[in-house]
Amino acid sequence: MPIPGAEHPRRAQLARNLAAVHARIAAACAAADRDPAQVCLIAVTKFFPATDLAHLAHLAPAAPAAHAPAAHAARRGVAHVGESRDRDAATKLAELAVQDPAARAALRVHFVGQVQTNKVASIARYADVIHSVDRPRLVAALAGAAQRLQRPIDVLLQVDLEEGAAAGRGGAAPADLGALADAVAGAAFLRLAGVMAVAPLGSEPDRAFGRLQGIHSRLLADHPDARWMSAGMSTDLESAIAHGATHLRVGTAILGSRPVAR
Ligand SMILES: *Cc1c(COP(=O)(O)O)cnc(C)c1O
Repeated sequence: MPIPGAEHPRRAQLARNLAAVHARIAAACAAADRDPAQVCLIAVTKFFPATDLAHLAHLAPAAPAAHAPAAHAARRGVAHVGESRDRDAATKLAELAVQDPAARAALRVHFVGQVQTNKVASIARYADVIHSVDRPRLVAALAGAAQRLQRPIDVLLQVDLEEGAAAGRGGAAPADLGALADAVAGAAFLRLAGVMAVAPLGSEPDRAFGRLQGIHSRLLADHPDARWMSAGMSTDLESAIAHGATHLRVGTAILGSRPVAR
């Protein structure tokens, strides 16, 4: 990967897209009477090249920064990226670490895709947060990998919000969440951080995220530190913010349409 320059047109495009997403977040937070500083934006970079991660990590603030206070300067660029395929993520992060170690070091990596048990050892090496833990076998595999690496990992429990015949394709059933939470909380190198969900296709995001918010508050009664709620993507982030999301996973609105999976 060639090290991308600051004047690269792709960087300007990413900066514009990012500014538009930040404006949407600010408006949704104002409407919900929430502090935008409490909402973490994760740029979902799956299938985009390592150069895009470098651009995002180095992005200057979209607004003229001449008089920006130090606190603002510290928040320039993107600090959180999301990946969903182990092979794609492992390859590009290794490439980035060689070509642009400062950019790699500046990024926290969120694994947001379905986790296959045989990929756990690889994912545990680079993921700081795993959003999609949904079954006891996966908790056991992850606990073992984190322990071997002596590497703490934040874990979110993915909740299946599908109903009826569509249920069961990803995420834990709400009824199974308590046992799963206890298993994560009992593992030495795993931290139970909260819940995650994807709004079912074709359903009202407000209804889905309202349900998730209720499920989250019941989990919080037993696990008061599990404060994160990962919800909201390019098309429904406003609804997620209205229902208390602390982490947004936004791909298309920042990076454009995804390249075909490699
Ligand atoms: C790809 C993906 C996203 C980002 O989706 P966009 O619609 O492109 O914003 C968010 N969450 C998960 C789990 C994903 O796989």
